[in-house]
Amino acid sequence: MWLIRKKVMMMIMEASKDSYPKEFGAFLRAHDNIIYEIALLPGTIQGNVHVIFPMYALPLDFTYVGSVHSHPSGVTLPSDEDLHMFSNTGPVHIIVGYPYNMENYSAYDRKGNPIRLEVI
Ligand SMILES: [Zn+2]
Repeated sequence: MWLIRKKVMMMIMEASKDSYPKEFGAFLRAHDNIIYEIALLPGTIQGNVHVIFPMYALPLDFTYVGSVHSHPSGVTLPSDEDLHMFSNTGPVHIIVGYPYNMENYSAYDRKGNPIRLEVI
């Protein structure tokens, strides 16, 4: 199971609101399964359809554990592109959905299986 600091989740929701109707995307940093920070990487493109992550910019750093992005549709299920990206970028991935309240999120492992993520 993964944990995320409340202020980080609030930051994600705020950034997702700011980006609406586009998607917001960032990487997640964690220590001992607790996500404590989001990392915006230069070159991340906020698309109307999809965020494009600059994989070349992902540091070789074990604190980078996965990704977060928003779904303006409100549906927090991963797309085929999401599943491909998950498999390349770490063990935990969060999708948050419109209207970006603190409850509308889902977490997945690198294969796209739902996993538990608790806000602490
Ligand atoms: Zn997506």
